[in-house]
Amino acid sequence: MDEQERAERVARGRRQAEWLASRDVAAVAVTFVDTSGITRVKGVPVSVFDRVSGWGVGTTPVFDAFLLDDSIAATPAANPSGDLRLVPDLHRLVPLAAQPGWAWAPGDRWTQEGEPHPGCGRLLATRLVDRLAQAGVTAKAAFEVEWVLFRGSEDDPQPAAVAPAYGMGRVIEVSDYAVELLRTLGAQGVAVQQFHPEYSPGQLELSVAPESPVAAADTAVLVRSTIRAVAARRGLSVSFSPSVEAGGVGNGGHLHLSLHRGGRSLFSGGDRRFGLTEEAEAFIAGVLERLPALLAVGAPSVASYLRLLPSHWAGAFACWGLENREAAVRLVTGSVGEQARAANFEIKCIDQSANPYLLVAGVLAAGLAGLEEHASLPEPVDGDPAGLSEAERSERGITRLPEQLGDAVDAFAADKVLNDAFGPLLTETLLAVRRAEIDLFADASPEEIVAATRWRH
Ligand code: GLU
Ligand code: MG
Repeated sequence: MDEQERAERVARGRRQAEWLASRDVAAVAVTFVDTSGITRVKGVPVSVFDRVSGWGVGTTPVFDAFLLDDSIAATPAANPSGDLRLVPDLHRLVPLAAQPGWAWAPGDRWTQEGEPHPGCGRLLATRLVDRLAQAGVTAKAAFEVEWVLFRGSEDDPQPAAVAPAYGMGRVIEVSDYAVELLRTLGAQGVAVQQFHPEYSPGQLELSVAPESPVAAADTAVLVRSTIRAVAARRGLSVSFSPSVEAGGVGNGGHLHLSLHRGGRSLFSGGDRRFGLTEEAEAFIAGVLERLPALLAVGAPSVASYLRLLPSHWAGAFACWGLENREAAVRLVTGSVGEQARAANFEIKCIDQSANPYLLVAGVLAAGLAGLEEHASLPEPVDGDPAGLSEAERSERGITRLPEQLGDAVDAFAADKVLNDAFGPLLTETLLAVRRAEIDLFADASPEEIVAATRWRH
């Protein structure tokens, strides 16, 4: 970051601070997401926001080594010496409607020398979006958010809605909460597309409009903290954990992605299956091939594997299919007449213990590798792969995704494309954090893993 950019940021921050003060905002929460998927924050009073906009606020690099229980993995990132500057992105600055007096902005982490911090997931995702742009391609993305709403104390949580899954009865049970949430998100500029009750007791889901991948990751952070803030005002608790009840249907964090060249969708009007273009197919194939390794980023907690079960709509098999909710990769073409706008692919095997910036980066790196390799997709799969015999699955090349975090971590450690994209520091830190979380739960029962993860992300 050079002197001129710094000065421009400070000037812009000053104008924003005046605007915030006129809206009775006292402080800005600048967030980043750590390697274990937890959103961490530095709050700054509006009076210093101009300086913070240019120079950032101090943050220790040790956060990169944090585990989900706030203990610290033994890795070079855990060095208590040194400091980083967390710099808010003023383009995403927004007053928080459910936290009066607060505004929010996502932050990028820079070194004190003004260089991008090699461990910053948001800057990494930005670089991968730029790499895609160099190939003339833009991506649009959106994260789906699922959560379970509870009444009662966190020690004795009771699902806040017990009417049938997807039932109107559930909307009635959470009616005021849901309306306040939708209004709050609207006031914060979030383009909600859909809200519905999900399968498990107390489980709800919300989807938002697609946007640039880094913006989609920002929106995921904002939506989740808003869901939690609106619930907190009503004495309710929220779990985004992949598994809220061992063996039950958990919370996914599905990612939708589409590609465009010169304003035209690469997911429709092509000569490949279901109207895909050659480029879209190659990109999806690059992702599909690397799913086991990507799970170390996208299903990164020990609890992730309590969710990632066959016949739970979690996408436990490495395969793809048209509108197939049991395939890890679901192709969505949209209705005839709107395909150029709506077609995309959905990665289902991932959850919200993932750092959304690292996940976007990993998916773009995998897809770019597919593009470079001119990769092609195997036969699509129709129906639940769990319904096929093992012999049928192996004949059709359908494999079960890792059944435990350690296998995903090993696949990530061996994946040159992802390691090169993440760089040595981030690769080493990610592996150390994952292995330390595996050790943390080495002797834990599924119930203990669920209890230790339920309120963390
Ligand atoms: N809750 C499911 C999951 O764990 C997803 C249900 C759906 O398809 O939306 O991913
Ligand atoms: Mg869902």
